[in-house]
Amino acid sequence: MINTDYKAIIRALMGDYRFDHSVNVAAEAVELAKLYGEDEEKAYTAGILHDITKEIPKDEQLKIIADGGILLDDVQKNAPKLWHSISGSVYIQTELGITDSDIINAVRYHTTGRANMSLLEKIIYIADYTAVGREYNGVEIMREKSRKSLEEAMIFSFQYTFNNLSSKEVAIHPDEIFAYNYIVLNKERNKP
Ligand code: FE
Ligand code: FE
Repeated sequence: MINTDYKAIIRALMGDYRFDHSVNVAAEAVELAKLYGEDEEKAYTAGILHDITKEIPKDEQLKIIADGGILLDDVQKNAPKLWHSISGSVYIQTELGITDSDIINAVRYHTTGRANMSLLEKIIYIADYTAVGREYNGVEIMREKSRKSLEEAMIFSFQYTFNNLSSKEVAIHPDEIFAYNYIVLNKERNKP
């Protein structure tokens, strides 16, 4: 059963654009959950909540992060775009009482990924890129890959992200590199 309360909760915390995106990511996450055998309700919940704090003012997000006992590293301090995934993972625990660590981690790592991601973490990471309404160079390739292999889709997104960040001389968070390395090193065809 899908808990529709979360939709009402996020509705009050963000504008129309972000709300529509969240609903679309939740729907996309459910599709991927069906395809890859993940719990659909968990996928919906993590999807609908993944950007919950994105429109909360930055200073309040920093307070949520600090109150959650999390210290930002240097890359995170210089990347406000990463803050909402961290503050969101705290917020859903403290304000919504979510205790499922897989859902918490799916929100926490939806921006960077990390080594050894769970199926749900990968689904939310990818759904954020493939949901209805997303438009960027390669979105169709990304959608196609997401239906065949979550790992291949993630590699494609890392190639895009690393190119994009390095071309703008923006720091790359180590978790993102660990995520990429983990997938590449665990691919059968890349093993020595
Ligand atoms: Fe996000
Ligand atoms: Fe998002």
